[in-house]
Amino acid sequence: MARARSTGDRLRRYQAKRDFARTPEPAGNAAATGRRPGPLRFVVQRHRARALHYDFRLEMDGVLASWAVPKGPTLDPKVRRAAFHVEDHPIEYIDFEGIIPARQYGGGDVIVWDTGTWEPVRESDAADPVRAVADGEVHMALDGEKLHGRFVLVRTRRDSSGKEEWLMLHKNDEFAVAGWNAEDWPRSVLSGRTNDEVKADPDRLWRSDLPAARAAVLLKPVAVTAAELAQLDALGESGVWSVHGRDIPVTHLDAVMFAKRGRQRPVTKRELLRYAAQIGPTALPYLTDRALAVHRYPNGVRSKGSWQRAVPKSAPEWLPRWTNPASGRAELVAGEPAALVWVSEHGGIEWQVSVARTDAWDQPTHVVIDLSGGRWPEVLVAARLYRTAIDHLRLTARAKLSGAGGLEIWIPASGAGFADTRAWAEDLSESVAAVLPEMAKGAATVRIDHAQNAEGGAVIAPYSPRATPGAPVSAPVEWDALDDRGLKPDVLTVRSVPERADADGDPFRAIVDRRQALPALR
Ligand code: MN
Repeated sequence: MARARSTGDRLRRYQAKRDFARTPEPAGNAAATGRRPGPLRFVVQRHRARALHYDFRLEMDGVLASWAVPKGPTLDPKVRRAAFHVEDHPIEYIDFEGIIPARQYGGGDVIVWDTGTWEPVRESDAADPVRAVADGEVHMALDGEKLHGRFVLVRTRRDSSGKEEWLMLHKNDEFAVAGWNAEDWPRSVLSGRTNDEVKADPDRLWRSDLPAARAAVLLKPVAVTAAELAQLDALGESGVWSVHGRDIPVTHLDAVMFAKRGRQRPVTKRELLRYAAQIGPTALPYLTDRALAVHRYPNGVRSKGSWQRAVPKSAPEWLPRWTNPASGRAELVAGEPAALVWVSEHGGIEWQVSVARTDAWDQPTHVVIDLSGGRWPEVLVAARLYRTAIDHLRLTARAKLSGAGGLEIWIPASGAGFADTRAWAEDLSESVAAVLPEMAKGAATVRIDHAQNAEGGAVIAPYSPRATPGAPVSAPVEWDALDDRGLKPDVLTVRSVPERADADGDPFRAIVDRRQALPALR
């Protein structure tokens, strides 16, 4: 199918209608899509924007040729439906079901009303369906869930501005049904849901300001499935793992990444990837929209590691990223669970995130009190004293095991700059030490680090593994777990954390979106 016209050219009209000002990357990459092997696909999306209509889209030449059909396709051979030829859509849109933000082009809700495969009926169209569209007449056979048989799209009018009116009709074949009306079959063939149901509880958002490969943003990450985990177990040393909606090449699955601790088996890369997929949906709220720095140990944690922030050229196009305004560089950000699997496949064992979000670099979302050094019982004593002070101030906070020797206390803070949060953390530490004499005595060896409460501050992300034997995890714990005698900084590992998250939930859910102002301390 060689031809001069590129997919990129064909997408230009789509792109022109959208605002890519916020993203300097190319917004739909011809090389990445192109012609895919196998039969051509079609989709009909029921789209409630300014007015209800059905978007009829045919895969051709790596994009979706598209028509808006106000009343929807019909199987009734006596009925002709008006159709308006609209700009080609990126192929990534083919299974999109969710909402489009109100201010953006096409704002509203979308369901996949029908999908399946299509074939050009005329031999000349088969050789060049794009030409058939340009010539104003497409004869096709559809094989979908609702639509079957032969359809014709034919152009009836083209005005001086290039706006095209077409007609869509169904041939009188064995699939013809008199009186058949699309509105009588209102549910999605993907989810079984109606537009109202999707609007009330959408799974995905279409960010048309992002490049097509990343435009479908997951609103509610879903748990990894047993079938996905079984597929990983069934792979040999390497292969392609289809997980969280992405195909991720995986390698060296039986390599030891973490040496054994005590009598346990060493932890392999397969187990690391399994953990990343399992914990991704739980960890995501603490990673999304935050700059990610990854401590990579491609040959396991016994070898020397290196830090990575930049998105490598070899990264797949779907991998979420943000542009650091300081460097102009595309950097990592984990905006979906599959990104953690990709990071882990590349030996990224420790995940460090910024204390501020990428869109408000000078606004920390929380104060972190980092207690480390000293003996663990003393760290726990200090943590309980902070808890008493924080409860007294009627603030909500939670603790997180470092996975190494210490513990952090996370206190959500809104409306403060880094200078404020840092001064506040230091004041809190002073008053804790002054009011409670045990602090000075029992916790004398505990080091209290306020470095992360400064601009550019970063912390080990909740649920990140740590690069030490046994694969301990920096896991959030409930407030009253600080009284638990069995609590140890490295007691939770990649083997135990997913089960705990399933059974007991996420201790940080109490603070994830909490907005609270820090009260004055003096
Ligand atoms: Mn539409």
